[in-house]
Amino acid sequence: MNCREGCGACCIAPSISSPIPGMPKGKPAGVRCIQLTEGHLCKLFGTPERPKVCIELKPTEDMCGFSDQEAMDYLKTLEEVTKP
Ligand code: SF4
Ligand code: SF4
Repeated sequence: MNCREGCGACCIAPSISSPIPGMPKGKPAGVRCIQLTEGHLCKLFGTPERPKVCIELKPTEDMCGFSDQEAMDYLKTLEEVTKP
C-alpha cells in the first residue's frame, strides 16, 4: 500500500531513538517530529538527512489502517505494549 499523504501518524505517535535534524536525541512518543509540516508532510522526504528508520518504515495495512485516526490509535497502542 501507499502512505496516505497528510496522515503523519508515524511521525507523531511513536518514539524515535535515532537523531533527527533539529532533534538530536530523537523524539519521545506522542511528540510531533520537528520535520513534520503543518500539512503532515516530511520536510526531509527525498533528502539524505531523512533518518534511516523513516526511510525503512513502510506503510502496511496493519499500521496505517483505513484512516489517520486508526493509524494513530494503532501506533499509540504499539508504543504502549513495547515500552521497556
Ligand atoms: S501511519 Fe501509514 S499512512 Fe500514516 S503517515 Fe505513516 S506510513 Fe503514512
Ligand atoms: S523525519 Fe520525516 S519521516 Fe521521519 S519522523 Fe520526521 S517527519 Fe516523519
